[in-house]
Amino acid sequence: MPIYEYQCENCSHRFELRQGFNDKPVETCPLCQGNVRRILSPTPIIFKGTGFYATDNRRKDGPQPDSGMDKAKFEEAKEAADKILKKEKESK
Ligand SMILES: [Zn+2]
Repeated sequence: MPIYEYQCENCSHRFELRQGFNDKPVETCPLCQGNVRRILSPTPIIFKGTGFYATDNRRKDGPQPDSGMDKAKFEEAKEAADKILKKEKESK
């Protein structure tokens, strides 16, 4: 069953509801009875157990610099990863 997220337009209360497709959509806030609107969930669909992640597309070519990561650290991490890969190849 999908989980829907709602936000109250009156008091901004957010809540989640697990609903079947045939259930009536919720229209009122449980706190203040104000109007609520359904929020489309930003959560990506994750296929558990397959190793495939919807957010993982950009990692095809190994580690990519993260926007929050500084470049020197990234290069360092990449070098370390390369060394480990080399070692693994040599040991075969
Ligand atoms: Zn409310």
